[in-house]
Amino acid sequence: MTDVNSEEYEDVWVFVEEHDGEVMGVSWELLEEAKSLAEETGEDLVALVIGHDVHDVAERAVSRGADRVLVADDEVFEPYRADPYGEQFRAMVEARKPSIVLIGGTHTGRDFAGRVAVPSHAGLTADCTEIDVDDDGVLQARRPAFGGNVLATIICEEHRPQMATIRPGVFESAPAEPDREGQIEHVDVVVDEADTLTEVLERNTNETVDITEADRIVAAGGGVDGDLAPIRRLADALDAEVAASRRAVDEGWIEGSRQVGQTGKTVRPELYVAVGISGAVQHLEGMNDSDVVVAINNDPNAPIFEHADYGIVGDLFEVCPALAEALEETDTPEVTP
Ligand SMILES: Cc1cc2nc3c(=O)[nH]c(=O)nc-3n(C[C@H](O)[C@H](O)[C@H](O)COP(=O)(O)OP(=O)(O)OC[C@H]3O[C@@H](n4cnc5c(N)ncnc54)[C@H](O)[C@@H]3O)c2cc1C
Repeated sequence: MTDVNSEEYEDVWVFVEEHDGEVMGVSWELLEEAKSLAEETGEDLVALVIGHDVHDVAERAVSRGADRVLVADDEVFEPYRADPYGEQFRAMVEARKPSIVLIGGTHTGRDFAGRVAVPSHAGLTADCTEIDVDDDGVLQARRPAFGGNVLATIICEEHRPQMATIRPGVFESAPAEPDREGQIEHVDVVVDEADTLTEVLERNTNETVDITEADRIVAAGGGVDGDLAPIRRLADALDAEVAASRRAVDEGWIEGSRQVGQTGKTVRPELYVAVGISGAVQHLEGMNDSDVVVAINNDPNAPIFEHADYGIVGDLFEVCPALAEALEETDTPEVTP
């Protein structure tokens, strides 16, 4: 246990994650959720931006709700490497003493959060799906525990800052208000290239698709029995991304980054087509916030139908090609909730 005086720590920080000028959607989701935390504690909502040529990102953070933005701008931060990011973030946390720090549970966020939390003696809860704060400013970080059978609330009363990584897709995104005003402060960069242990020799830009950002999703389940062709064709016709249940991932039919559910990603597209998916509670957890759900299943009693806006009882190998063909004949398929 560390001897911290929690009175010395204030403000709610959100890390705004940027790569090549693109901001990860989870950053705006965290800003939206953090607004209520900051209101509750009566503190400022502060966005943290680390990168190179990122003033525009800082302005966007203001438009999405940040009262203040701290910017560390230097070539050393481009492209992302865990050691300079972690070191810069740690130095800022130790100098400024935020009470709460929220980071997206992306590859990057998960990669460096521990590098900040451990040397700063912060309490870090990973992969949260809900957050709240009590009357004493203690962060209530909730996440599935014990194999997902319970939702645990984790508090770090004795440590500051209180840090959490949060899954992408679980909160609404903060809307952009272009006329919003906020304070942007460029901070000292404490990292030097000469002290950096890693060097990027090559970048593979063929990154896997982030299904949490997709507006439309066609998801494959056990019913496809290893044949994703009908799913891909329907997805193409709908201009949608392909996702999957855990069964399809476990069978090796599709990569794990496309899994939806409790141990996969949380998605909230405008259209979710569940094909050959039974509707297990762990799957529903990842797609329940979709605007329109269409289920295709040959079992009329499949639980997924209870959670669908439209249900098609039939063999997916007949239904998907028929739907795709009909869609291919129309110009732009519209989705109306
Ligand atoms: C701790 C824990 C975490 C988990 N996390 C996740 C998670 O993140 N995501 C997830 O998805 N699951 C997760 N699971 C697994 C979950 O419980 C289910 O086992 C899984 O979702 C089942 O996948 P499925 O519905 O695709 O396959 P199945 O249960 O095999 O269902 C296949 C469905 O396809 C239908 N079907 C079969 N043939 C056809 C056909 N020709 N045409 C039309 N329909 C057909 C069947 O009627 C059936 O409804 C988790 C489980 C545990 C214990």
